Amino acid sequence: MAIRRIVTQGDDRLRKKCREVTDFNQRLHDLLDDMKETLEEAQGMGLAAPQVGVLRRAVVIVDDDENMLELVNPEMIESSGENTAPEGCLSVPGKWGMVTRPGFARVRAQDRYGNWFEAEGEDLMARCFCHEIEHLDGHLYVEHIDHFMTEEELEAFYAEEDAPEKGKK
Ligand code: ZN
Repeated sequence: MAIRRIVTQGDDRLRKKCREVTDFNQRLHDLLDDMKETLEEAQGMGLAAPQVGVLRRAVVIVDDDENMLELVNPEMIESSGENTAPEGCLSVPGKWGMVTRPGFARVRAQDRYGNWFEAEGEDLMARCFCHEIEHLDGHLYVEHIDHFMTEEELEAFYAEEDAPEKGKK
């Protein structure tokens, strides 16, 4: 395994539509292993293959139990509700923007051997599914925002989130 360099906004590879994975071979397994190691080192929530310069539809995500989920050729099959929260990206380091995403999402994907499965998640995980699938189509979350959040805006959001009275009024 090896840590790969994460490409950042401005790199052409982040704007390309990625091709489907058709060979579930050692090369794919090496890519997924490297992506997991790279994501762990970067302490991110999710990483898409184009972020390490590979234009293939593969993604790794940290799930609610802190396990790394591998999604090959992922597709959104269901989404509902809304969740608005700060969102960041390893390819746009140190910045955050407020983005509204579905509160629930279910995806269909293949594992590293080509077997189809479904995965679902709420809030942060649903956000992650949307964010990573957008990467595979050449899009970044910054397309959804009108400005990057200031320190004050970030602090205000999290202060509100932690307030014990939240949702009780
Ligand atoms: Zn990203």
